[in-house]
This record gives sequence, C-alpha cells and structure tokens, in this order.
Amino acid sequence: MLPTLDAKQALRLRRFKMAMVSYAMWVALALFAFLTGKMDVSQQVVPVILGGIVLTNLYFYVMIRSGLNKRLTDPSMTVQQLVIAFSWAMVLMLSSDELRGAMMMVYVVTLMFGIFGLRRRGFYLMSAFAIAGYLGVVGAEYAFFPDRVDVSREIIMAMVLTASVVWCAWFGSYVAGLKESLRQSNTELREAVSNASRMATRDHLTQSFNRRYMMECLSREKDRADKSGSIFAVCIFDLDHFKALNDRYGHLVGDEVLSAFAYLARQELRATDVIDLDSEGRCFGRFGGEEFMCLLPSTSEAGAIKCAERLRQATEEKVFRGGVQMTLSAGVAEYVAGESVADTLRRADEALYFAKQSGRNRVASAKPELPEDKETAKDVVVKGNFSGKRTSR
Ligand code: GH3
Ligand code: MG
Ligand code: MG
Repeated sequence: MLPTLDAKQALRLRRFKMAMVSYAMWVALALFAFLTGKMDVSQQVVPVILGGIVLTNLYFYVMIRSGLNKRLTDPSMTVQQLVIAFSWAMVLMLSSDELRGAMMMVYVVTLMFGIFGLRRRGFYLMSAFAIAGYLGVVGAEYAFFPDRVDVSREIIMAMVLTASVVWCAWFGSYVAGLKESLRQSNTELREAVSNASRMATRDHLTQSFNRRYMMECLSREKDRADKSGSIFAVCIFDLDHFKALNDRYGHLVGDEVLSAFAYLARQELRATDVIDLDSEGRCFGRFGGEEFMCLLPSTSEAGAIKCAERLRQATEEKVFRGGVQMTLSAGVAEYVAGESVADTLRRADEALYFAKQSGRNRVASAKPELPEDKETAKDVVVKGNFSGKRTSR
C-alpha cells in the first residue's frame, strides 16, 4: 500500500510530473529527429536510451511515493534529478549531430527546474556541470571523429550555451531568492498572527487567559451543558488585602505577586487533574485586577470547592519573592441548567463576597434554591443561600 502524501510530498510529486512532461517533450522531439534520419544513433541503442530514461525516473518516483526521499538531506532530490536530466541531455547532444545547436535548448529547460530547490551556489554548480558535460561531449566527438567537428562553429555554440546557461543560473537564483524571502515573510507573518491571537486571549501581565477569552469559554461550556446535560462549575478567586500589599511593597512587587500567583494557580489546578489548561473549555484566567476565574467542566459544586480549597491552601503556604505572603478568598458556583452565564457568575461573586465578609482566606459556595418544579429550570430562583465554609485553620 502506498502511503498517503502529505502536502510537501504531493508538491514534490507534482514537480516530478512536470519534469516527466518535459522528458516526454524532448524524447518526442528526439524520436522525430531520429525517424527523419537526423540523429547519429543506431536503431539498437534507441530502446536502451529510452529504457534508461524510464528506469532512472522510476527511481525518483518510487523514492517519493514510498517516502524514502524524506530520509535524504534534500528530500526534493533536486540536485540528483538535475544531474540525471543533464546526463540524458549529454546523451542527446552526443547523438544529435548537426542538430546539436537546436537540442542545446534542453539545458536551459532543465536548469529552470532548479528554481524549485537550488540556491545561488547550486545554480552555478549545476551550470558548470552542464557546460563541462557539453564540452566533454564535443571533446569526445573531436577526439574520435575530428573530421566531423567544425571547431569554430563548436566554439561559438559552446559560447552561446555558456551564455544561456549562466544567464539562466543568474535569473533562476534571483527567482529562488525571491521565493526564499517570500517564505521568510510568510513565516514571520504566521508568527505575527499566532502572537496576535495569543495576545488576544491572554492577559499581558500574568500570561493567563484574559476575561474575554474566559467569557467565551463560559458561554461555550454553557451551550455544551444545555445541549448534553453536562455540568460545570466556576470559581472566582480574589486575593485578600491586595491593596495593602501594594501599599506596603509597591506596585511592582504587587505585579510580580500577581504573576507568581497565576503561575502557582496554573500548576495547582493542573495537578488536581480536574483541569487541563491546554484543552478547550477548561481554563484559568485573570478576570481583572487581583481577581481570577477558573472554569471547571464536568465538575460539581463539591468538586469545585475541593479544587478552590487546594489553591487556597497552596497560596497560603506560598512564600513569594521578598518573603511576601498572601491569602485568597474564593466563591464557587455550579451552573444551574437554563440560567445565564451572568447568573452563574453573579452567584459565584456573591459567594466570594460572603467569603470576604466571613473573614477572608476561605472558600464559599452559592447554593441555588430550586423551585418546586425542577423541570422549569429557567425559573430557577437563586437566592443568596450560601454554604459558607470556613476552611482556614
Ligand atoms: P479584599 O481583601 O477586600 O479583596 O481587599 P483588596 O485590597 O484586595 O481589594 P480592593 O478591591 O480594595 O483592591 C484591589 C487592589 O488590587 C487595588 C489595586 O491597586 C490592586 N490591583 C489591581 N490590579 C493590579 C495590578 O495589575 N497590579 C497591582 N500591583 N495591583 C493591582
Ligand atoms: Mg482583593
Ligand atoms: Mg478585588
């Protein structure tokens, strides 16, 4: 079974097919010249040359189709394909006799394929190889059949060939340079887009998700819950007496503490296994100021309290740079089917307020008061019925 081709391999195969079209064109021209008696080659040699062309190209096809080319330093095999093509071009020259001048065009066509993979140096090396090969052919002919070679004509033809090939190499390397700078600007553009989209979803200070992204996650999670009946909970964390910390240590230290706290929270919440910060829908972010929010999909109120409590403890135990210590209060609410995201957040916020009122450094949860008829979820009346849990020592 042939492996399916990735985009790069498909492109290599397309280029290979273009090369095959060129081969077909030159073989057809050479055969036509042969049939009209203009080629200096015996009838027995023709199938050998044709077989050789097919076999050498079959090799490239098999390499690309099997994926073996990916193990090579240059998986496009540009140089190999060009060397083979120039070698066949030399065979064509050797057999072309008086048509050699016209058949020389094959060098120019072949060199054009270098645009796909050669850099400047490669172009000039390939040109040198092509010219040397041509001179070799003419030299061999002169050595064996000096009477067949019109030296002055051959010198002019070699000059024309050299000029054409060098021009091609110069032009090709210019185009290859343009291609390279286009590739570079594409890479830069991709990086810029990915940075921009990262910045659009992140809070610049803590590198956690920002409020806008958190709100998107919440609304996605609500849609999912409404469709599938799944549950989720939210926790709002607010650092205690943060203003006092700023006043005492300065705003810069406050900023550092915020970043360090966000980092700690991400580590802690990830460690609970309840939250996977990398996957869609489960996220922790900065809601604003010294307030953070965590969305916990498939988590009940009890699970969310556990999770918040874990972070509360970790924060209490953490000694930040400069010996700064800090606590947090948290409000937890589980989503009630049918309510709006704003309602869930409001209940979590009310629970947080309750936690603050009850002395801070604790987690509180908002319990919705369900109406008699639980079916009419839209009519759920949420009262400030908190199960404030004093969790501090
Ligand atoms: P409470 O325990 O009631 O939450 O008291 P608090 O001082 O934390 O709350 P309050 O809302 O009175 O003050 C919040 C403080 O957080 C005030 C503000 O200067 C500080 N703050 C908000 N955003 C930033 C920030 O980006 N960097 C720093 N360093 N401080 C911030
Ligand atoms: Mg605060
Ligand atoms: Mg606050």
